[in-house]
Amino acid sequence: MDRIWCDNDCKCERYRIFLLALYLQLLANERGGKPTRTQLKNKNRKNTNPWRVKSAIQNNQRASQHESRDGGQEMNTIPFIRVSGPAIERGRQLGELAKEQISQNITMYRQYFQEVYRVDWDEARAYATTYVPWIEQYDMEIMDEIRGMSEGANLDLLDLVVLNARSEIIINIGKAHSVLDGCTCLAATPIVTKEQEMLIGQNWDWNHLISPGMIVVEIDQSPKPTILMVTEAGIVGKIGMNSEGLGLCMNFLGMDEVSEGGVPIHVVLRGILNSNTLPKAIGQITKLPRGTSANYMIAHKEGESVDVEATHNDYDVIYPLDGCTTHTNHFIAPRMLNIEDTKRNGIPDTHLRQGVATRLLTTQSGSIDAETFKRIFTNHAGHPVGICRHGEAMADAEAAGTAKTVFSIIMNLNKGCFELTAGNPCENPYETYCLK
Ligand SMILES: [Zn+2]
Repeated sequence: MDRIWCDNDCKCERYRIFLLALYLQLLANERGGKPTRTQLKNKNRKNTNPWRVKSAIQNNQRASQHESRDGGQEMNTIPFIRVSGPAIERGRQLGELAKEQISQNITMYRQYFQEVYRVDWDEARAYATTYVPWIEQYDMEIMDEIRGMSEGANLDLLDLVVLNARSEIIINIGKAHSVLDGCTCLAATPIVTKEQEMLIGQNWDWNHLISPGMIVVEIDQSPKPTILMVTEAGIVGKIGMNSEGLGLCMNFLGMDEVSEGGVPIHVVLRGILNSNTLPKAIGQITKLPRGTSANYMIAHKEGESVDVEATHNDYDVIYPLDGCTTHTNHFIAPRMLNIEDTKRNGIPDTHLRQGVATRLLTTQSGSIDAETFKRIFTNHAGHPVGICRHGEAMADAEAAGTAKTVFSIIMNLNKGCFELTAGNPCENPYETYCLK
């Protein structure tokens, strides 16, 4: 009898311990325990206010490129780096902390230039020297930051200038044309968004071999605005936002013109991100000729956005009268319609992406939110060259020039946060980064 009682008691005790463990586990999950990959995906699907979720990566860690987040499963993660101080000093910090990624990018472009554009590295370096005076004339601090990066990474200064002028090298001295490009940008102003917020974002499509060289960087450069952006390590400006509520996306554009000098477009991107208002940002595009053509989609938390199509020596500005703007890789501004548009001819999917993105955005007018952007950024019409671009599915997927979506970003300028994927958004969860 005693033994039977004891068995039942032990079973009850084990059951109580099991229930207690289950309860504690549920409590831990409820309080924000480490999410599994599935939970991250579900979180993104359900839009459970992801803006409140600050990524742990913000703690200025050099996260590994393929950090294990849930019991050993590999997940792409873009390393986060925070730097501060005067231009030379923050450049040194960047060079030191991102040396591995900068070196990776130099190696990648050395191969890419040679295999796709038949430009060897010495030729690229020689051509890059012509851009140093342009960068210095544009903003000496930006040139100082590049010098600091070369010192911090212990790499030759000209190699860093090559990275910052890599678009001009490809367009102006490339001996072959690659048609493998992309990028789809969206902006929605408060009059059409669900929460009356300013949203701007894009899929950035480029050579898939660049992925290991990408970083997210926060640059505290007081008294200028603090910048939070995603960029190719070693390049001073790309896609992101600043502490004054300004956000920036971009598309490559092409025209049948070889420019004689000008400011490298990635330096122009930094000039825009250094600006605290839209007029000043436009002024950063127009104050000097550009090294090549590009489209700059710029928005501000005050609720306005503009889109600037700029060639070497001309530009036009599109204002979103219906509250939405979309842009892909061809010129659409009235002033630009008669130029010889090389991207339009080379990547005709630009028209489909522009049309699909416009339809999917404008038909949601009044209820647009981050989920609307995600639905657009995962659209595969025209696969493999759709908005969510899958260069790896193309026949020549191993070629150095194969383009795919390297990252997808959605910025909420009122909250000072962006959501970002490392890789195609159909396969990778968005993670949130906020300005400190
Ligand atoms: Zn996809």
